Amino acid sequence: MAARTGREYIERLDQTRPTVDINGERIAGSVADHPALAGVVRSYAALYDLQHETELRDVLTYESPTTGEPVGTSFMVPRDPPDLLKRRAAFKAWADHSLGTLGRTGDYLNSALMALSEAGEWFAQADPKFGDNVRAYYETVREQDLLTTHTLIPPQANRAVGPGQQIDGRALGAHVVAEDDAGVTVRGARMLATIGPIADELLVFPSTLLKGTADDAPYSFAFAINCDAPGLRFICRENLDYGRDHPLGARFDEVDAVVVFDDVLVPWERVFMLGHPELCNAFYTDTSAVVHMTHQVTARTTAKAESFLGLLSLMAEAIGIEQFSHIQEDLAEVITMIGTLHGLVRAAEADAAPNQYGVFTPAWEPLNTARNWFPRVSQRLPEIVRKFGASGLMAVPTEGDAAGSAREDIERYLQSATLPGPERVRLFRLAWDLSVSGFAGRQNLYEYYFFGDPVRMAGALLKATDREPYKASVRSFLKRVNDAAPASA
Ligand SMILES: Cc1cc2nc3c(=O)[nH]c(=O)nc-3n(C[C@H](O)[C@H](O)[C@H](O)COP(=O)(O)OP(=O)(O)OC[C@H]3O[C@@H](n4cnc5c(N)ncnc54)[C@H](O)[C@@H]3O)c2cc1C
Repeated sequence: MAARTGREYIERLDQTRPTVDINGERIAGSVADHPALAGVVRSYAALYDLQHETELRDVLTYESPTTGEPVGTSFMVPRDPPDLLKRRAAFKAWADHSLGTLGRTGDYLNSALMALSEAGEWFAQADPKFGDNVRAYYETVREQDLLTTHTLIPPQANRAVGPGQQIDGRALGAHVVAEDDAGVTVRGARMLATIGPIADELLVFPSTLLKGTADDAPYSFAFAINCDAPGLRFICRENLDYGRDHPLGARFDEVDAVVVFDDVLVPWERVFMLGHPELCNAFYTDTSAVVHMTHQVTARTTAKAESFLGLLSLMAEAIGIEQFSHIQEDLAEVITMIGTLHGLVRAAEADAAPNQYGVFTPAWEPLNTARNWFPRVSQRLPEIVRKFGASGLMAVPTEGDAAGSAREDIERYLQSATLPGPERVRLFRLAWDLSVSGFAGRQNLYEYYFFGDPVRMAGALLKATDREPYKASVRSFLKRVNDAAPASA
């Protein structure tokens, strides 16, 4: 099978029965039909359909190296600058579709799988079979255009002690309890898997919490499992799709779920790493997976910042506030944000080079800068929307009201400088769903945390940055000043 259509994505979901608890019920039929998930499933389906649209086909797909059929561009192993540009264009085309609010579109982890699959020698440090496994798995995902998600973090029971000493000294985090000819048996939980219930595959990859000691061995692994594997359960948060008056929530609520492994058997061919804490800690960096994931992330966050600029500009225009200097200052702040993202991504691409496995890889420093910077500044975006919109974010009757007995009042009293009443309400409802609603709150949390704790990322950045040249420069200045000072009388 080549790049899927939306219908093919839904048909596959219809054939599976993952164990999913949501809003107090266990889903009995297809997840694609459940009211809490149907909206986001259709939005994901629309992305697969884009792969077949005439204007986007050449951006979103390339020729499979094994079949010659079109497959998703995010699977393409970049070998030169045009390949990287094509990958970014594909990321951006998908991200624009949801105003950058869908974080777990397939291209995010396809990028990781692409980099991992090329790093066979690195996996061979543990076992050559692992390199073969990850390569074969990547090819399966590419050729079947499967949607994967990942789960990394152990349950948040007690962060002060290691994974084996949680409440009452018990292990809560997913860990290996047995190995036999059939594979590895895993028991315990992982904190979160966004879109787990509507994905085809779950990547259970290392978190960055391992201390590298022998105690960590049962928690040290990387494997993939199908989302309806026996013993695997997803427990979802309350859904945020409250219907058509939530323009974003009704379409893009990427369900987040706790993942329970109730003695899940992972066949050997799906195991990519086992029992090497030090290799697990280096999983994303040594393979360049983190760089290619960040390349995708920056395309999405660019789409998001651009969408905020469009929305804020329309709001300012609609209610005639653009002449106020603080409004201009805030708009300029968002323009600067976009310019910074453009600059960092282009710098990363301009300084790209093949990694040790021959994958043409963007430069890490600019992307790492974006990864450390955007989670913090992203919090300003909804804040600015709230500042612009003020009470207008609450004067948002529903479409039912606009078509019902309140129609005339809405047309008269909610019109704005540039928009008729119902259109202004639609614009401000979008603004509300990006800045005030439950969907907006979850977006903020996602943007801040999804790529890791910014505090710990900052610590890692500090550790990885050689500051000696800067210190030497200041020392040398001080010496020059001192040497030039006249001797005291
Ligand atoms: C909306 C959303 C979706 C997500 N989706 C996924 C997903 O699909 N898959 C997945 O694997 N993960 C997902 N995550 C999890 C994400 O990776 C984590 O939130 C992030 O790594 C932080 O870890 P934590 O949430 O366990 O926070 P914790 O580690 O529990 O931290 C809680 C607080 O304690 C502080 N703290 C804890 N330990 C330390 C320490 N050692 N040093 C300094 N400070 C510390 C933190 O700074 C923070 O303030 C998602 C998160 C969110 C919010």
